[in-house]
Amino acid sequence: MRLAERTGKIDSSGIRKVFNLAQKMTDPIDLSIGQPDFDVYEPVKEAAIQAIRDGCNKYTVTAGNTELREKIAAIYAARGFHAEDVLVTSGVSGGLVLSFQVLLDPGDEIIMSDPYFVMYKHLVNFIGAKPVFVDTYPDFRYSAEKIEQAITDKTRAIIVNSPNNPTGLVYRMEDLNAIARVAEKHNLLVITDEIYDAFYYGHGLAPTIASIYPHSLVLCGLSKTAAMTGWRIGFALGPKDLIKAMTDYQQYSFVCAPSFAQKAAMVALDIDLTEARQSYQKKRDIIYEGLRRDFEVVRPEGAFYILPKAPGGDGDAFVLKAIENNVLVVPGSVFSEKKTHFRISYAGKDEMLHRGVEVLCRLAKEYR
Ligand code: PMP
Repeated sequence: MRLAERTGKIDSSGIRKVFNLAQKMTDPIDLSIGQPDFDVYEPVKEAAIQAIRDGCNKYTVTAGNTELREKIAAIYAARGFHAEDVLVTSGVSGGLVLSFQVLLDPGDEIIMSDPYFVMYKHLVNFIGAKPVFVDTYPDFRYSAEKIEQAITDKTRAIIVNSPNNPTGLVYRMEDLNAIARVAEKHNLLVITDEIYDAFYYGHGLAPTIASIYPHSLVLCGLSKTAAMTGWRIGFALGPKDLIKAMTDYQQYSFVCAPSFAQKAAMVALDIDLTEARQSYQKKRDIIYEGLRRDFEVVRPEGAFYILPKAPGGDGDAFVLKAIENNVLVVPGSVFSEKKTHFRISYAGKDEMLHRGVEVLCRLAKEYR
């Protein structure tokens, strides 16, 4: 079958290889899954069921239900970001597709940290635009200075992802401030992906660049923090003209986010996530404390990922070794131009995390 040339720009061979191998594993210690180990909260399920029973099964307006958009706007306003407009998207993935499509022409550049969330690179390539990587190894801090060096007259936006997938880093306000100043100086949009915002293990709320930089597009959603990955609810908040263009494109693509899920989102946004956050912080401690003696590793402050350096320096080879020993982790090369690290998701059960740590540390010792 003859496919469009741009399909060649989407390379999923790395991750496919790992998952093909994984299929042969029986009862693996699975530290690869990027979704919570808890189910959707009962009141949220009830709200969805009720919405379906009430006939909320048709298209909604393209931009999403007004009351939901207002609620999201109010939540961000309380965090200091007074968005001009709000769009309900089909997950944050939907927001990424829409924003990249309306912002980037072929040849345009967009800056992202390396390591990066895997979709950014491939979606940008698919459009024929160019991902420009800012190397953040070894501490994964996103330096404003390096960002500024990467800016050209083709740069259209800077992506900030905090809490970060795959590193678990949460950028400090002082770093975000410096990034905002660079963006302002060069009149650039910041796209801030905050999908893990409620899983922040520091004090108070996770710092957001949107609170100090009005020319931001916030992408957030309920997939992770409310465990609604399959329900496809995300939000985009930002400049009016950008949100309008994204809404127009949504009209001819996704049409709208799922109707019943938009109703349930009203309830999900009110759920107190303290317990989930504490449970994930405990998981972070199990993994970090378990690994830090045998691995070179940066302590995550949010999300549910950690990106240790592979013993021997070859993440691909170490992941194969881990899989041979029944532990499923993801090569860092999936999220990076380098292959020195590997990613662990610690969203699984505590008991499995302990078993995984034990095997990984045993393997690491073999390299000494
Ligand atoms: N951004 C980041 C950083 C993610 O990790 C993910 C999911 N893995 C997404 C966006 C997309 O999430 P969803 O489409 O489920 O909202």
